[in-house]
Amino acid sequence: MNNKRILPLLMISTAFVVSCNGTKQTTDNPFLNVYDTPFGVPPFDKIKSAHFKPAYEEALRQHSAEVDSIANISEMPTFENTIVALENAGRLLARVSYVFSNLSSSTTNDTLKALDTELAPKLAAHRDNISLNEQLFGRVKTVWDGRDSLDLDGEQQMLLERSYKNFVRNGANLDEADKTTLREINAQLAELTTQFGQNVLAETNAFELVVDSEAMLAGLSAGMKAAAAETANAKGYAGKWVFTLSNSSVMPFLQYADDRELRRQIWEAYKSRGGNGNDNDNSDILVKIANLRLEKANLLGYPTHAHYVLEEAMAENPTNVKRLLDDLWAPAIAKAKTEAYDIQKEIEAAGLGFQAMPYDWRYYSEKIRQQRFSLSEAELQPYFSLSSVRQGAFDVASKLYGLQFKRLEDMPIYHPEVEVYEVSEADGTQVGIFYVDYFPRESKRPGAWMSSFRRQYKEKGERIVPIIVNVCNFTAPVGDQPALLTFDEANTLFHEFGHALHGLLSDVSYRSLSGTSVSRDFVELPSQVMENWAEDPAVLKEYAKHFETGESIPDSLIAKLESAGTFGQGFATVEYLASAILDFDYHTITSPITVSAEAFEKASMEKAGLIDEIIPRHRSTYFNHIFNGGYSAGYYSYIWAEVLDADAFAAFKETSLYNKGTADAFRQNILERGGTKKPAELYRQFRGTDPDPVYLMKKRGLD
Ligand SMILES: [Zn+2]
Repeated sequence: MNNKRILPLLMISTAFVVSCNGTKQTTDNPFLNVYDTPFGVPPFDKIKSAHFKPAYEEALRQHSAEVDSIANISEMPTFENTIVALENAGRLLARVSYVFSNLSSSTTNDTLKALDTELAPKLAAHRDNISLNEQLFGRVKTVWDGRDSLDLDGEQQMLLERSYKNFVRNGANLDEADKTTLREINAQLAELTTQFGQNVLAETNAFELVVDSEAMLAGLSAGMKAAAAETANAKGYAGKWVFTLSNSSVMPFLQYADDRELRRQIWEAYKSRGGNGNDNDNSDILVKIANLRLEKANLLGYPTHAHYVLEEAMAENPTNVKRLLDDLWAPAIAKAKTEAYDIQKEIEAAGLGFQAMPYDWRYYSEKIRQQRFSLSEAELQPYFSLSSVRQGAFDVASKLYGLQFKRLEDMPIYHPEVEVYEVSEADGTQVGIFYVDYFPRESKRPGAWMSSFRRQYKEKGERIVPIIVNVCNFTAPVGDQPALLTFDEANTLFHEFGHALHGLLSDVSYRSLSGTSVSRDFVELPSQVMENWAEDPAVLKEYAKHFETGESIPDSLIAKLESAGTFGQGFATVEYLASAILDFDYHTITSPITVSAEAFEKASMEKAGLIDEIIPRHRSTYFNHIFNGGYSAGYYSYIWAEVLDADAFAAFKETSLYNKGTADAFRQNILERGGTKKPAELYRQFRGTDPDPVYLMKKRGLD
């Protein structure tokens, strides 16, 4: 399962990116000129950090002026002169925001960080100026109230509904005093959430485990040692080995390092991020965020933040989410307890007397897996070179949807590790442009995500092609050897590629409804469904090729993978559910939190019945998804969507892996449709019925 991902969606909902707004300006700021680049991609080679601030100032000024003129039109409000006009406003702002939000996540620097801090409250105020503009809302409401007499198609109806609800949900119906309070809350939230994310990055970079002697690295593969030696070199510790809190460094260490004390040290640092009482401490910040969200929800008439968020989600309300989490928790914790028992037995069998701790889990779990299935991650890795896995994902998309991928050289890129592909239909029609950025660096936030540099929409009926990016933190190449991914990373690559397909194949009229502009609990369907192909024996045979010999993964290894299928799923499910429950507890409070984040988390996990050997996948103080990444009251989405993806993949398995009819139905009803219809409707159109949770339980061995 892959829940480490963050999918940032831009906050500016009323913006296009195409060409410069209005008059052509001659300036050296690339944002203020028409992009003179292949496919209109951002001219990364010309963009400097110093360009963002003046570009934002101009963009905000333009957008405000456009919105004012829409609010002040003398003609009666119509769908075109109000709703569509708002949708089309703010092109320059979108153009700058796309680049800024991406670069400040994947290749930040002190200038961008400072600007992010400065901008967050300004952008929040700008959004408030729009949604709290009474005259403008009056016009939107007039169109909304008269909707039955308008001859709108389904997508137009959805655009109108989204637009109207956005205003209401952002406070358009509040009185003046409450509007002022709301503005203050939004400004504070913008500052606090930005600070939270910056702290997590600083804390992730702050720790290094420096190892002096190779003897202490017993258990680690030659590749892991070589990678740690390279990291040491880069950090000025030549001749030593350095491990970091990047997932691709810390997780293999916890899984393989024999030295228990070193495992303890790196794990302590990992799980204490953001909670050290130092400058980067997130404890108070996150309590303030949760409390402000409650205050905002109450102000807008909702009992909790979760009610506010879920109103727009497929799950609809907290009760439905709680039911799913509860249904899964009982079998998952039971399975995890069995796994804990096995681990303790393993420790005792080794003649060791200690009680299993969280930093022992991955290590002994790996030992048991090797014994039971004689399967080790190290044995798999040579078959999962980055280029094989990426090609595997491309090939699956070719077989399902007829897509072709062509590497483009000499494109403007924002970092030397970035690669660019042109995506086309089988007949050559252009689909979109796809950027990939796969390796960790200190300027990149942890995790993996998909984002856009331009979203798909139509202009005068012509499809404007999207520019999509996947950003990950995979195991990097070492020396002359290519990057060799873990099986989990291979899954992640397919997952993020699934999000990318959702963005690339989008075929809607309005930008704000395109691609991944759907609720959080639906957006993980296109991504997670791809993981099913990544793991399928027949597909593995096609793409998992030994990086030296080119030979396909042997059947014996696939058989081991299959028989080990649900091994460790108790841990994986519990670790994930614990975070989902924690998120839900923070966001279903009905009175402000008065205890520390640490005490809140402890109480939440005790109530759930989490066992001591497992901690939540994301602890409060580094839970970027919910305190900085837009998944607040939404971390459950991954498992909600897993009900959908397991059911969707069953539709293929019932026929064939690449069944044309099923693939066409998935593409036409889901991947192309963005948010132009309610998710439940889109799903039923694809499958003919609602999803059945039985497939998820089976997949996780919880049935
Ligand atoms: Zn995802």
